[in-house]
Amino acid sequence: MIDTPVKSFDGLMPFAGSDLNVREHERDLAALKAFMDAPQARAVLCHKGLVALAPDLSLISCKPKDLIGANIFDPGPVFLGTDARGPIFAFSVDMPVTVNNTTLSASDFQDLRMVGGRMTPLDMALAGRARSLFDWHYNHRFCSKCGQISQPRDGGVKRRCASANCETEHFPRVNPVAIMLVVNGDHCLLGRGHGWPEGMYSSLAGFVSPGESLEEACIREVKEEVNLDVHSPRYLFSQPWPWPSQLMMGMICYADSRDITIDKNEIDDARWFSKDTVQAVYDKQSDAFLRPARIAIAHHLLKFWLAE
Ligand SMILES: [Zn+2]
Repeated sequence: MIDTPVKSFDGLMPFAGSDLNVREHERDLAALKAFMDAPQARAVLCHKGLVALAPDLSLISCKPKDLIGANIFDPGPVFLGTDARGPIFAFSVDMPVTVNNTTLSASDFQDLRMVGGRMTPLDMALAGRARSLFDWHYNHRFCSKCGQISQPRDGGVKRRCASANCETEHFPRVNPVAIMLVVNGDHCLLGRGHGWPEGMYSSLAGFVSPGESLEEACIREVKEEVNLDVHSPRYLFSQPWPWPSQLMMGMICYADSRDITIDKNEIDDARWFSKDTVQAVYDKQSDAFLRPARIAIAHHLLKFWLAE
C-alpha cells in the first residue's frame, strides 16, 4: 500500500511539474522539423551546465532558427517537448551567442542551484530537464559497449553507436537516491556533509545499490552513516534533481533509540532536533541550524513531518 501525500508541501515539487508533453512517438526527422518550423517554437539555451536567464530569472528564449550559424555543442537541438505555448528545444551553445539582437555573455548563464528557488516552477522544470539531458550527452559521447563515437537520436532523448557492427542504443539514465527523515518520538535526525555551508543540516541520503530495494537502501544508509537501526521505512514523494540526474526518493523511517555513532568518512556531523526547534527554524524564530533550501526535497520532508 502506498499512501502518498504528494500535496503535503507547498505547490509543485521543485524541478517537477512541467506541463511538457515529451511527444515520445513524434520524434522522427519529419516530425522534429515540423516542430522546429512551427511559428510558436522556442529555444532555451544552456552553457556548461548553466542556463540563460533574463534579469527577472525567466528563461531567455528565441526562435530555434535564430541559432543557425551559432556554435552549438553536441548533441545539437534537443527537443524537450511541447507545452501550452508550443514546441520547446534546448541548445547547448558556446559564446558568443546572439539571440533577439542581444549578444549574451557568460553572466547571462546562471546556476539553477543558486537561483532556481526564485524561478517559476515551469521554467525550473524545463531548465532542469535540459540540464540533465545535456550532462548525459556530454558524458556519453562514446559507446560504452565498443568505444566508438555515438550520435544523438530522436531529438536528443537517446544516442546510438555509429559503428555499423554495433549500433547499440543508449538512453539517459536516472540515478535513484533514498533520502530519509529519521524520526524518534518528537525528534528527527539531520546530518551535514563535509564542506557544506556552516550550520546547514539536512536529511540523510544515499544512492540505491544494485540488488537493493528503496526501503533496504534507506535502512542501510542510516546504519552506515550513524550506526543506527531504523525500521518501517515509508515512501512519501520524489523529486528530479539535475546534478546530474538523480531521482530523490523521499522517505520517513523510525528509530527506537537516539544513540548514534557518526562515520566521519561518510558525513561531517549528525544531530537530533526537536519538532519545536525545527518549527522555530522554519518560522525564522531560531537559528539552531540552517535549513535545506526550498528547491531541495529535504526542505519538504521536514515540512511534511512538521505538519504530520
Ligand atoms: Zn558501439
